[in-house]
Amino acid sequence: MKLASYSETGEGSPRVGIVLGDTIVDAGFDGTMMELIATWPSRRSALEDVAAKASSGSPLSSITLHAPVARPGKIWAIGLNYADHIAESKMEPPARQVWFTKAQTSINGPYDPILIARNAPYVDYEVELVAVIGKGGKYIPADKAHEHVFGYCVGNDVTERMWQHAGPQWSLGKSFDTHAPIGPWITTADEIADPHDLDISCSVNGELRQGSNTRHLVFDLWQQIEHLSGAMTLEPGDLIFTGTPGGVGAAMDPRQFLKPGDIVRCEIGGLGHIEGTMVAED
Ligand code: ZN
Repeated sequence: MKLASYSETGEGSPRVGIVLGDTIVDAGFDGTMMELIATWPSRRSALEDVAAKASSGSPLSSITLHAPVARPGKIWAIGLNYADHIAESKMEPPARQVWFTKAQTSINGPYDPILIARNAPYVDYEVELVAVIGKGGKYIPADKAHEHVFGYCVGNDVTERMWQHAGPQWSLGKSFDTHAPIGPWITTADEIADPHDLDISCSVNGELRQGSNTRHLVFDLWQQIEHLSGAMTLEPGDLIFTGTPGGVGAAMDPRQFLKPGDIVRCEIGGLGHIEGTMVAED
């Protein structure tokens, strides 16, 4: 099932909808996506009924899609997790997983503008597979980790490179407002046969910059969940950004950062695409 947060007019509280082809139907659930994820086992069959009985929905082109999860409890992202990105970053392959957080307030809608802040001009893209935690837990072993994934979406781990490298950890440079666009919806885990075999790409103004497949992850998602849950309890709606492949702007020669008006499109096979226009902050 493809579950979106949407509104008819772009205003008011988003509702949960079920995406059917290029249309969307109201899921008949009076709560947020976070609440739906937390209670999914008891609600799933009702939503499947809605989807099965839906005759016609609203065209996706007529509604506004919001970030599927507006305020996740945690956003964790792994660094240096594709071999080609490690090489272009002139780093050694890490022996242990390298993690940083993105602020809740960096969440952005799938087609919303992405800000270039006045004090942070070196903005870069990083397309990533994002996993949405369903059933929470601590000390989750890798061989059980798939049971804890609710679904997947496309993410852009937008990064301000100057702030990222101003200190020994990266979280500030990863946490600017609007710098975590996600969507366009959550595809539930049962629809994805293998999250480690998905084509993943990012283009800027139509020019392909990143193109890879999630089979090239250094630490796979199951290892990531085992590692994170060894430190803390994972909860429904938590997001995990699973790393970006090579091709970021900071590694180009000469370096290329995003400019106002640039259009950044991130796409993952089976999950759809998100696309944002860069806008200079007032
Ligand atoms: Zn990243």
